[in-house]
Amino acid sequence: ATSIVLASRPKGTPSQDNFRQETHALPAPGDGEILVRVIWLSLDPYMRGRMDDAKSYAAPVELDAVMEGGVVGEVLESRAEGLAVGDIVTGSLGWTTHAVARADAVRKIDDPVAPLSTYLGVLGMPGLTAWVGLNKVIEMQQGETVLISAATGAVGGLAGQLAKAKGLRAVGVAGGADKCAFATDTLGYDACLDHRATDAATLRDQIGKAAPDGIDGYFENVGGKTLEAVLPNMAMNGRIAVCGMIAWYNGKGIDEAMPLPAVWRTILTQRLRVQGFLAPDHFHRFPEFIGEVGPLVRDGRIAVREDVAEGLDSAPGKFLEMLEGGNFGKTLVWVGDD
Ligand code: NDP
Repeated sequence: ATSIVLASRPKGTPSQDNFRQETHALPAPGDGEILVRVIWLSLDPYMRGRMDDAKSYAAPVELDAVMEGGVVGEVLESRAEGLAVGDIVTGSLGWTTHAVARADAVRKIDDPVAPLSTYLGVLGMPGLTAWVGLNKVIEMQQGETVLISAATGAVGGLAGQLAKAKGLRAVGVAGGADKCAFATDTLGYDACLDHRATDAATLRDQIGKAAPDGIDGYFENVGGKTLEAVLPNMAMNGRIAVCGMIAWYNGKGIDEAMPLPAVWRTILTQRLRVQGFLAPDHFHRFPEFIGEVGPLVRDGRIAVREDVAEGLDSAPGKFLEMLEGGNFGKTLVWVGDD
């Protein structure tokens, strides 16, 4: 088996040197365990946080330990009840070609409604995040306006489409003309603004034009300049679902960030509700989520865009690229035969 381990902790922006590839003998499953052959590995922004040893909502990856990551794979050996050779499972088994896992650490994918890769994207953790953010945090209502940053990404790409399906006005913010064209032409956003082409003040004015009645719900994925441009455009009684702040993950731009008193004043005067949320707290909602979004994906009513790198050894490079916005769609690594 081959795995990628955390070789050292990054200071600021990570590099290839922070990762190391290792090969080792195929592990054998014990009682209640399975051996899984990884087919797809998901690359997600949260992994940047796991590379640091700062206090966070989840424990860091230990030095020399396998990088954390969600996978879809096939059971090669089973010593667990309820799981048989050939079953397809998903779970957080790491950046690896094979892994031994306890049966309760994986979810079995019975009768997939769409290609297996979608269970790491639109039907997986990022999809659940989009659905929870809109329905349980923003509590979107028909006729409202939502703004979604990282609008074409794994989370944002579904969030925009779900908002449109519910009859909202959806404004996206994305990096580059190609992503913005995809947002409006394929994902159905009413408008999309390119944050890479402008400064915060211009972006703020563009958002004002795209959302003339203000933003009722902000699906916050990025922080940074975009947040600064969105805040003054929030409508009275608006809700902000704080999902992520990727612009700050590598420590860039923190010194120039908007002053806290200005942020606080906007929350007060506009009577905003700002709520952070984390997908793992909502994993019990997977059946409800799959029940609702699964048929939309199966019937081709949700556009799915994936950005796939081939082979486990491409994972570090692809991950670094994603952190800078180099991905276009859900970032995945194809590890083995489908
Ligand atoms: P994406 O597929 O959206 O990929 C990341 C995107 O972030 C890039 O493509 C880029 O999009 C954008 N980005 C990168 N740097 C910047 C920057 N400096 N300013 C603005 N945008 C930037 O990733 P995901 O959909 O997987 O994740 C989106 C966000 O949601 C992340 O912040 C992530 O941490 C968070 N998240 C939170 C979860 C939770 O439980 N709360 C669960 C899952 C994700 P572009 O080129 O369009 O700018």
